[in-house]
Amino acid sequence: MIQTDIIIIGAGPVGLFTVFEAGLLKLTCHLIDSLPQAGGQCSEIYPKKPIYDIPGFPSVLAGELIDNLMAQAAPFKPGFTLGEAAMTIDKTGDNQFIVTTVKGTEHKAPIVMIAGGLGVFEPRKPPISNLTDFEDKGVEYIIKDPEFYRGKRCVIAGGGDSALDWAYFLAEKKIAKEVVLVHRSSSFRGHLDSVQKVIDLSEKGGIKLITEAEVTGIGGNGKLDSVVVTHQKDGEMTLETDHFIPLFGLKPSLGPIGNWGLEIEKNAIKVDTLDYSTNIPGIYAIGDVNTYENKLKLILCGFHEGTLAVQSAFARIHPDKKNILKYTTVNGVQGF
Ligand SMILES: Cc1cc2nc3c(=O)[nH]c(=O)nc-3n(C[C@H](O)[C@H](O)[C@H](O)COP(=O)(O)OP(=O)(O)OC[C@H]3O[C@@H](n4cnc5c(N)ncnc54)[C@H](O)[C@@H]3O)c2cc1C
Repeated sequence: MIQTDIIIIGAGPVGLFTVFEAGLLKLTCHLIDSLPQAGGQCSEIYPKKPIYDIPGFPSVLAGELIDNLMAQAAPFKPGFTLGEAAMTIDKTGDNQFIVTTVKGTEHKAPIVMIAGGLGVFEPRKPPISNLTDFEDKGVEYIIKDPEFYRGKRCVIAGGGDSALDWAYFLAEKKIAKEVVLVHRSSSFRGHLDSVQKVIDLSEKGGIKLITEAEVTGIGGNGKLDSVVVTHQKDGEMTLETDHFIPLFGLKPSLGPIGNWGLEIEKNAIKVDTLDYSTNIPGIYAIGDVNTYENKLKLILCGFHEGTLAVQSAFARIHPDKKNILKYTTVNGVQGF
């Protein structure tokens, strides 16, 4: 049984920064994440994309932000249970919670902070019967490292920002040998600017754009070597390729947390903005996973929420102690 002051479910940016804020109050944290690495969406979906709205960083790669948050949390020696989804939560007689993962690992604490973001990641997949046979053998749903595609032929499908931005990036930087973007409509859902950049590049021959068409079949011998594209007017054509990357977004699903008796609204946990507490005393929800009036799903908002939530957690754990705000410039960072 792992004992700590705060169990944090979700090791995304918000969970990681909360470790730091809890540490300043001398509260220990243990993080649980179903993914094998820390960083949440930043590491899993867009590690190489620059973020421009983190205060004090005019531009920072999402992966770098996570490295920095890990370094900032390190003095407070957080524990990690990675690659295991938190499945159940039980209240104990001594007013604590036990959170058990899918592999049966048990964690005990008086406070639980849910920083579960979008929940358990589930990419939307096109309805191609043998698609799963080629997963990680040429079919990927997320571009983690563009270098993986250096010198390769790539067929990307989708009409949103992710499909447009990656198609443009791989083609314009001449990383991929060939980029084909397939979209079922002639209009795109992405930002106008992204759409225009892709159209301009396709006119110069940098990207092959196939609209009003869908990828309806894939083939290969153990490894993907072709896709079948069905055009609404022109019918089927087969394209040779090394990678097929359908970027249709992620299905938001709270997963097991949705069954914990928490008040849920629009697939997110309702909280009191006083301290980001949920309807169950001792359980808080911070970051993308929560909802309240005027909620913005931004990293900087999650940082604020985690900061206020640990203040409230401190008062619950130490009802007899008064916490006085001390600046880090005055006190420094006294690690454990
Ligand atoms: C392409 C893209 C670009 C973006 N750009 C920006 C930007 O420029 N600026 C900005 O502020 N925001 C941006 N965002 C949004 C930002 O990434 C999120 O607001 C942020 O990641 C939320 O952090 P979080 O820690 O709350 O959740 P997440 O990063 O979603 O992390 C949650 C973690 O919880 C884990 N988890 C969930 N359920 C369980 C469970 N039951 N058991 C164990 N683990 C669980 C998940 O595996 C995940 O690792 C962008 C998002 C995307 C997709």
